[in-house]
Amino acid sequence: MTAPTSAKLLGLRIDVDTHDGMKNGVPVLLDAFREAGVKGTFYLSMGPDNSGKAILNVLRRPGFLGKMRRTGAARVYGLRTVLSGTLLPARMIAVAFPGIARRIVAEGHEAGVHAWDHRRWQDKLPRLSENEVAAQLGRARQAFLDIFGETPRTFAAPAWFGDERALKIEEWYELGYASDCRGTEPFLPIVDGAALSTPQVPATLPTLDEALGDTHTEPRDFFASMLDAAASAAWPVLTVHAELEGGPYAADLRWFLERARERGIEPVPLRELLAARRTSGVPLPEHTMEYGTVPGRHGTVFMPRKI
Ligand SMILES: [Zn+2]
Repeated sequence: MTAPTSAKLLGLRIDVDTHDGMKNGVPVLLDAFREAGVKGTFYLSMGPDNSGKAILNVLRRPGFLGKMRRTGAARVYGLRTVLSGTLLPARMIAVAFPGIARRIVAEGHEAGVHAWDHRRWQDKLPRLSENEVAAQLGRARQAFLDIFGETPRTFAAPAWFGDERALKIEEWYELGYASDCRGTEPFLPIVDGAALSTPQVPATLPTLDEALGDTHTEPRDFFASMLDAAASAAWPVLTVHAELEGGPYAADLRWFLERARERGIEPVPLRELLAARRTSGVPLPEHTMEYGTVPGRHGTVFMPRKI
């Protein structure tokens, strides 16, 4: 295999949603990335792991149990996570593992804020007061500062479920960029009739958990299709989860990373993808925001309004 001369960039985003994902999944991913020689952007849930509450809620939804069986979600998340925040106290996520968090940055990756309480945000955002939205973002930002000694440069809304209140707070934080939505390319969100200065770098590709039981039955088929999608998209961003690709699907992710290299696809932190986009000299497009659906994902996600 000859080394490709010019790499095709793929934004690599890693979401950390649970205590076990931080404790067990992140070290597995760091090892895999070091072996493959790739870097990514880790979005850390900082505060309490209330996954159990949400899992109990979704258990009541029609059709969920079938999907859970197909994807092996019960095996993936484990009994302790299901009980976290329900029968047992919620355990903290990144706050409980500052050493692992610092290892992310020490190994050359980018770290950003995913959430204070991921499940509370994901399940309740439209019903949260403006004060609580600010408090959720502010607590996460402070926890990040306590661990890393500097403020975060990027945020990513849990489950791509953002809103304009959060975008305005992020603007005030003077981030380099945020990744709060799904979409096709970096852009500037328009709020109250004017474009913000904080770019969005959206996740463009489906996730493994969306694909399994929906578009794909085999993880390798999903990752093979992601190679094709990454090769053909202008500014592709793939999201992996510490709980999945750092857990039972770790071998499938390694398989993907090996083939990405063979095909000249270079996974990079999202800040590098944005920097490459900016060197094109063409101004970022501007879009108002709306909510829409993506195949395989329950509920709606934040996205730029289609022109
Ligand atoms: Zn998440």
